Amino acid sequence: MSKLEIKGLNVSINETQILKDFSLSVPKGEVHAIMGPNGTGKSTLAKSLAGHEDYEITSGEVLLDGEQIVGMEPDEISRSGLFLAFQYPSEIPGVSIANFIRAALTARLEEGEKFSAPAFYKELYEKMDLLKIDRSFTSRSVNEGFSGGEKKRCEILQMAMLKPEYAVLDETDSGLDIDALKIVADGVNKMRGPDLGILLITHYQRLLNYIVPDKVHVMFDGRIVKSGGPELAEKLESEGYDWVKEESAATASV
Ligand code: ADP
Ligand code: MG
Repeated sequence: MSKLEIKGLNVSINETQILKDFSLSVPKGEVHAIMGPNGTGKSTLAKSLAGHEDYEITSGEVLLDGEQIVGMEPDEISRSGLFLAFQYPSEIPGVSIANFIRAALTARLEEGEKFSAPAFYKELYEKMDLLKIDRSFTSRSVNEGFSGGEKKRCEILQMAMLKPEYAVLDETDSGLDIDALKIVADGVNKMRGPDLGILLITHYQRLLNYIVPDKVHVMFDGRIVKSGGPELAEKLESEGYDWVKEESAATASV
């Protein structure tokens, strides 16, 4: 079966172990959410999957439809079909959004395939309308001077244009007011389907009111400590994370 499979991933930053034997499987076509308290390693997971150089994968596997991506360069990982939207997207001065997406798509062309500018702009404008992004944005530098909400919408626009097989969205809801949250959620929901597996990382439950996940995983201290359905997110919203910590401590001491 097609899936994003993370097996026994151990990741350290500056010799401190952050991810501890982390395992998770997201089948294509499903939306899985990871929730967890701050500092638990959620962004570390996203950055490790992207091949970020600061994150040392000491052991474990990440398989994209069976293909090992551990050890690949970030652009190679991206071309393999994994898209990552970061909690704090970087600014790329001097590179317009349109050119940035165009370059990424050009890099994905098969031998002999030609890039069609008219088709590209037609699709870009359609997706921008869907995400309620003003046309003037195409010529602005990537993320430079963008508000939190604009950055998030811009990331979803990139995802919509690149059409990855799997997407990891790290705190796509942070910094969004409720209207922007609904627009982003609507965009993600429109992309949902049998050809895309989504891993949604979030601290708060409210995003999951708009993007209802197939499964919810609770992460604590570098690993998944509980998995369930959407009702698990509601329990976390009403009861907080304390009970998860207690259960995790009880399991760890056995
Ligand atoms: P979360 O996204 O769940 O809030 P993070 O993955 O950002 O958690 O952080 C997990 C732990 O790793 C924290 O203790 C944090 O201080 C540490 N950490 C994250 N990134 C770095 C970094 N680049 N350098 C040093 N420590 C880091
Ligand atoms: Mg984070």
